Amino acid sequence: MKGLVKDFVLLKRIISYSGHVKRLIYISAFLSIMLAVLAPLRPFLVELAFDDYIMLNDYSGLKLICVLMLFCLFIEAVSQYFYTYLINVIGQEVILKIRENLYKHVLSFRFSFFDKTPVGMLVTRVVSDIETIADIFSQGLFAMISDILKLIIIISVMIYIDWRLTIISLLTIPLLILATNWFRIVIKKTFISVRNFISSQNIFVQERVSGMKIVKLFNVEKQEYNKFKKINSELKAAHVKSILYYSLFFPIIEILSAISLSLILWWGGVSALNNSGVTLGEMMAFIMYINLLYRPIRQLADRYNTIQMGLVSSERVFKLYDRAVDAKKHKNKLENISINGKIEFQNVFFSYIEGEPVLSDLSFIVQPGKTLAIVGRTGAGKSTIVNLLSRHYDISKGSILIDDKSVYDYKNEFLRERICFVLQDDFIFSDTIINNISLGDAKITRKVIIQASKDIGIHDFIMNFQDGYDFFINERGTMLSTGERQLISYLRAYVRRPDILILDEATASIDPETETLIKMATEKVTKNITSIIIAHRISTIINSDNILVLDDGINIEYGTHNSLIKNNGEYKQLYDFQFLQ
Ligand code: ATP
Ligand code: MG
Repeated sequence: MKGLVKDFVLLKRIISYSGHVKRLIYISAFLSIMLAVLAPLRPFLVELAFDDYIMLNDYSGLKLICVLMLFCLFIEAVSQYFYTYLINVIGQEVILKIRENLYKHVLSFRFSFFDKTPVGMLVTRVVSDIETIADIFSQGLFAMISDILKLIIIISVMIYIDWRLTIISLLTIPLLILATNWFRIVIKKTFISVRNFISSQNIFVQERVSGMKIVKLFNVEKQEYNKFKKINSELKAAHVKSILYYSLFFPIIEILSAISLSLILWWGGVSALNNSGVTLGEMMAFIMYINLLYRPIRQLADRYNTIQMGLVSSERVFKLYDRAVDAKKHKNKLENISINGKIEFQNVFFSYIEGEPVLSDLSFIVQPGKTLAIVGRTGAGKSTIVNLLSRHYDISKGSILIDDKSVYDYKNEFLRERICFVLQDDFIFSDTIINNISLGDAKITRKVIIQASKDIGIHDFIMNFQDGYDFFINERGTMLSTGERQLISYLRAYVRRPDILILDEATASIDPETETLIKMATEKVTKNITSIIIAHRISTIINSDNILVLDDGINIEYGTHNSLIKNNGEYKQLYDFQFLQ
């Protein structure tokens, strides 16, 4: 009962996405009723033809019945055509809406969600799970209603013709119901496992393809192949199981319907011979009715499962949909004000995973228009600092201020528009250079981009590519060097004329020529803009206004290059080390 209520709630929710095709739904419902009424009409006409016309040698009556039958067939065919077309369109329209909304929702998730969620899982939800929901409309719901209606009408007509024959035809029904119920239960189980294996296969393939370089570099193709083979054969086994159930179920139904037919033949034949009320026409009609009766019953199990499968998928999809965008609620109203760019961290504590602190009691100030460089060993928490600034994660204690106002007072969109990033491993989409820089923002025209690129001195560098700004970069920018990728990211950030600029230097070593370009670009980009540079090469930051040395999330040194050198501490060591190199 609880399950039924849950199914009903899910179904209602799915149907709520069909508001824009309400008219189509009404038409389909009408057509499905038409079809349910037209199908049982044929045997009835056959019976009429036999008993009232053929037996009485009435030629013109027979002709009339034949014409009537053709006419019914024609109407049935036309209705069937429109019906099939419409229910499929409805299914597609509904999943269009669900998919649109789901994707929009996924876009609003925060970093922490993507940290924890495998990409393959998201792809399965957005693509194939939703596909199954469409089947609820195209193969499940309307068809089931039409089948049930058909059954009621067929049985009523049968009783009307001869109640004794009806009882005999229905003798096998209890067995049929038992078989159908068994089928319904086992097939649902296999379906759920098929969906699970599809999801894990997607996750596997997606991740391995992304990390294919590692697979190849470490020569582990064989191991990866074996792992894939295992997942793949599990998926096959689940599919085969459902095939097994189908191939068992259909013969059972055939046998039951054959038993019904022979019962009718025997009982009807005997009583026709004895002249005890059953006519030849009635027997013919019943033989046709048994066929008509068994088909919808057999299909009911299938339809029910199609709906169940759709509901299982929809439950997963809605689960993703119902995940709250777990941002803390803040009044965050501030927008469209001019920002000077003062940044202040006051006793900030932060951890990605509870109990594993990454930043502890961190405080520092960057004055408007000045540059702060952050250095420190790998894993010290440098990239973390800048993630917090634009609120992609929430801090657990302390405060982060921009222009003396908490970052939580600003509207998210505004904040993110005013702070631009060059990330350590910036993502390059498979698109042209120009589109990678504008990211679809109409305000950022080609002219603006070229001007900005000249400003920071990388115009010639871009023109060196085959088609210049229209050079098409392959997926994830794998064909570009780390340095080249960073230069493109520099332009991506600079062209947006932010008030605050964050540069997270790539850790990989870069050839001297690109390094000079980056160094020059860094100087131009950060001029008069409040900037935080996370540096791995001391050479880029010697001229920074202040330098923060971070270790284990703690501020251990702070000051200008010269004062830190005098200090003879961690920074001096780092400097000597790189200088000697
Ligand atoms: P690098 O110089 O290598 O770039 P970093 O100073 O930028 O290092 P962070 O990326 O800030 O270091 O990472 C600080 C710590 O937080 C590391 O121990 C890292 O393992 C952990 N960490 C980083 N990102 C996450 C995340 N999304 N979830 C959980 N832990 C994370
Ligand atoms: Mg980092």
